[in-house]
Amino acid sequence: MNRDLQSTMGIYQELGLGQVIVATGNFTELGGSLMPTEVLEAMQDAARSFVSIPALQERAGQVIAEHAGAEAGYVTSGAAAGLVLATAACMTGSDPAAIHQLPDTAGLKNEVLIHKAHSNNYNRMFRLAGATVKELGYSAHRTQPWQLESALTEKTAAIIYVVAQFLLSKSALPLTDVLRIAQDRGVPVIVDAANELPPVENLRKFTDLGADLVIFSGGKDLQGPQPTGIICGRRELVAACALNGAPNHGIGRPMKVGKEEIVGLLAALDRYVQLDHQARIARWEQQVSLILDALADIDGLHLRRVFPDYTGRPVPRAWLTWEENATGLSKPAVLDALANGSPTIRLLEEYGGDGLLIDPTTLLEGQESIIAERLRAIFTSPGTL
Ligand SMILES: *Cc1c(COP(=O)(O)O)cnc(C)c1O
Repeated sequence: MNRDLQSTMGIYQELGLGQVIVATGNFTELGGSLMPTEVLEAMQDAARSFVSIPALQERAGQVIAEHAGAEAGYVTSGAAAGLVLATAACMTGSDPAAIHQLPDTAGLKNEVLIHKAHSNNYNRMFRLAGATVKELGYSAHRTQPWQLESALTEKTAAIIYVVAQFLLSKSALPLTDVLRIAQDRGVPVIVDAANELPPVENLRKFTDLGADLVIFSGGKDLQGPQPTGIICGRRELVAACALNGAPNHGIGRPMKVGKEEIVGLLAALDRYVQLDHQARIARWEQQVSLILDALADIDGLHLRRVFPDYTGRPVPRAWLTWEENATGLSKPAVLDALANGSPTIRLLEEYGGDGLLIDPTTLLEGQESIIAERLRAIFTSPGTL
């Protein structure tokens, strides 16, 4: 057993919980991400003294803004909270009466527009702020610019633009078209780019294109504290996010981040922009190759390296699918065998396909061998399941 793995398990073992190998990428349900030492140490330091939270948020905002090439930044309790605050900010601006009034939006601009092709589980965050969600365009056919133009009304508070791997349709307008139309009409665009790191360049990409507010998770590839996220963008809108958020008593008050999380997020960000991202990709390639090579000779099992992923992120992955007739294995049977073994192994179910994906970004060193061995056992002796 890899020493690294053992040392990460102590507290969960004490609590009677088993080890999980996560080959899905960062999922909140599976603990999100693991914080590197620099982040943990910064959080410990932060925990030892009191500090003014507004002053710390102000300073954090400057650091975020620098890294993101934005006018301003803010730390939220996760990207989902960022979506709530960004929506609130676009409805209230800095008007204290409007901030006080939420989630009642009577008399305010209170509609957010989102492409049908972008609608997802996080739509609820916009409604949590009090907004009404209006879908536009088609889910299968290419949406036309007139569809956005005609959907914009005097009630439109913002346009939401989602960039995510789980979106399977390319039928939304390109972001550049959305930004052009929105700017003409003076409507802010909020980009949900929660999971769009790596590449590190994406920290700036959407702001550079002209998005008004851009949202990232702090607890995914950034490896900051799990309950953190980033909002960056235009100064007055970011200020309005802060006014709606803790320690102020707006709708964001229950979504507070502590001093430890704010400082941890900054440490994670500083680390991330200095990481050798090429070396990370090279390590992921090795892990993926090992799995592909180890299983190449199994009858009825088809394997392939997938690169880049759906939104162009530079993450190599192993993709596997199999003939149920040849192997005698259904997909639920394989997932059960992986989940019920020790350690539990979680792979990513392909969005819109039958395959399973092994995402190395959340694998610890050596776990690729454990996955390969387990899959080999499952596919070469299915009778023992
Ligand atoms: C993960 C994710 C979120 C939520 O991020 P948290 O930091 O967990 O709150 C929102 N939107 C998208 C597209 C995501 O992938």
